[in-house]
Amino acid sequence: KPGTEKPRIVEDEEGGILFYSASPSSSGQGYESLRQRLPAYKYRTDILYLVETHATTIVVGETGSGKTTQIPQYLKEAGWAEGGRMIACTQPRRLAVQSVASRVAEEMGVKLGEEVGYTIRFEDITNPELTRIKFLTDGVLLREMMDDPLLSKYSVIMVDEAHERSLATDILLGLLKKIQRRRPELRLIISSATIEAKSMASFFSASRRIHGREDEEHGPRKVPAILSVEGRGFTVQMFYSEEPVSDYIRAAVSTVISIHDEERMGDVLVFLTGQDDIDAAIQLLTEDSHKRKQELIVLPLYSGLPRADQDLVFSPTPRGKRKVIFSTNIAETSLTLEGVVYVVDCGFSKQCFYNPMTDIENLVVAPISKASARQRAGRAGRVRPGKCYRLYTEEYFINEMSADGIPEMQRSNLVSCVIQLKALGIDNILGFDWPASPSPEALIRALEVLYSLGVLDDDAKLTSPAGFQVAEIPVDPMVSKMILASNDYGCSEEVITIAAVLSVQSIWFSARGVQKQLDEAKLRFAAAEGDHVTFLNVYRGFIESRKSSNWCHKNHINYHAMKKVDEIRQQLRRVAQRLGITLKSCEGDMEVVRKAVTAGFFANACRLEAFSHNGLYKTIRSSQEVYIHPSSVLFRVNPKWVIFHSIVSTDRRYMRNVISIDPSWLTEAAPHFYQNQLFNPRPH
Ligand code: ADP
Ligand code: MG
Repeated sequence: KPGTEKPRIVEDEEGGILFYSASPSSSGQGYESLRQRLPAYKYRTDILYLVETHATTIVVGETGSGKTTQIPQYLKEAGWAEGGRMIACTQPRRLAVQSVASRVAEEMGVKLGEEVGYTIRFEDITNPELTRIKFLTDGVLLREMMDDPLLSKYSVIMVDEAHERSLATDILLGLLKKIQRRRPELRLIISSATIEAKSMASFFSASRRIHGREDEEHGPRKVPAILSVEGRGFTVQMFYSEEPVSDYIRAAVSTVISIHDEERMGDVLVFLTGQDDIDAAIQLLTEDSHKRKQELIVLPLYSGLPRADQDLVFSPTPRGKRKVIFSTNIAETSLTLEGVVYVVDCGFSKQCFYNPMTDIENLVVAPISKASARQRAGRAGRVRPGKCYRLYTEEYFINEMSADGIPEMQRSNLVSCVIQLKALGIDNILGFDWPASPSPEALIRALEVLYSLGVLDDDAKLTSPAGFQVAEIPVDPMVSKMILASNDYGCSEEVITIAAVLSVQSIWFSARGVQKQLDEAKLRFAAAEGDHVTFLNVYRGFIESRKSSNWCHKNHINYHAMKKVDEIRQQLRRVAQRLGITLKSCEGDMEVVRKAVTAGFFANACRLEAFSHNGLYKTIRSSQEVYIHPSSVLFRVNPKWVIFHSIVSTDRRYMRNVISIDPSWLTEAAPHFYQNQLFNPRPH
């Protein structure tokens, strides 16, 4: 049986601890029969025939049926990667890209980064000469279009997890449809875990006829083929809460404990909303279950997890033990976990919602859809009949949960989307052929912000060079603008460090019960100007400690996050240099740093309410009520004018990563945007 003969030892970067990852490290042998048992294998010939004869093939199949790991291999075996061509397979999530790429490399018995490689933002594990199968995020493929608009090096592009309807997937689908008209030899595979295939198919068949006819005689059929790869999931017995649950973290942990006490062996997969929930639940469970510790292997799974921890999640559970995996919705469809028999579903996930009227993008914990709930439950029936425990009532599931989620396109801030389309020469954004149309208000708001950033001109075309430069830097346009502005202010070194920190989730190491120590640690680095300047202090400390994990540990700083920051920083410096930005430090002059931040984030300016005793701020643009997040070093300090990086909503709207500014910088940064509003805010 593969997976048991040659354990690989992975050294944890914290030093010392050794984990066993029982995956065979070099040979692809032994995978052949495993591969042939997957549902996709029965359809191998059909898939290859359809791809040969149709421009677009839609493959629907349950999670675990072999879509992601097998189809790219079938294509390669059938010769689609010969003659220097490549097969691309996109995923909405970075962690899924890394994980499926290494699985496929392992099955093929090749070294990851050679024949099989992957690319995610800030990490390129491919070899231009050798790589034939490339896994990448949908966002990275969009970026590749800037250099190669027809994606000419790919013979087949598989857009995977299309049911997720991520923003980048939808933009990609719209653009691929255009590319197909110019490249009839290109093949698309759209794969998805749920049956939303029809609307996808009609999107691809509704071609805009040019001169009233379509050339059907030659080349592949234009109407997409739909293929369903039957899974063979086992039945899953459902359990609901009798009453609504108030604290789903506690409820999840006690459900896990009773499963462990009462049910047969088999791994447990718990769906929570994010890293903070997951850390809290793991802590609770380890406190509660120290007696049973011998038998439980408790593991987190979320994006941004260090490599060694990811490997643990996928390695087979040792005999006599039970794995408990606390995951975000990444385990819903993008990753296959073998051995899961019990699923606990909290009923929520973290989702972004953007309101163009208030111009606020909220990251909120929101109820999932019925479609998601079914997917989550399905994870319990992979190896044998399973059980799913829903931490909500059946009545709620039936009557209140919405059937499907809303495509990200219709609930996102579209600033990045618009700038990418503009950079690809799509001028008529409103008339673009979208799989799901975004709201015109959101598009207009995005155009307005980009105009104020100096990225678009009066004709809504990218400005030269600023607009093209902003589009070129692989970060949010507001962050790109901040980096460009730092050149004028002579503080690019500092601002690039800030941009790198803003690209990772959090540099602090938080866990339940150590809040006080964390707060004390933060005070050691806290800067009166705000979080951005505090980041600079942390980064300096990290460098002075020679990037020591020990130092991080002592200061409640997340070592893995800091290493990532350091890497991203190097890459951003290279991009900046390519764009002609002079790498220069302002040697401690924090005013210029704050001005550069303002140049990018002026749209997020807020003023403290004059008579507020509880730290109430209002946004300048739309008079929305916001507060400084308790994790900010400016919490309770409450300077009069601030700019935030993002908003999270729980009981209130909280600003995360806040810096104090001088209001006169706003009119300097964006005269059009603020006009006369600053001192006469719109009444509301
Ligand atoms: P799909 O894309 O249809 O959801 P995948 O191609 O991801 O399915 O997975 C197919 C099968 O490959 C799974 O059922 C599982 O048996 C195996 N598999 C995939 N990834 C891993 C992994 N990291 N470790 C062990 N087995 C895996
Ligand atoms: Mg898949």
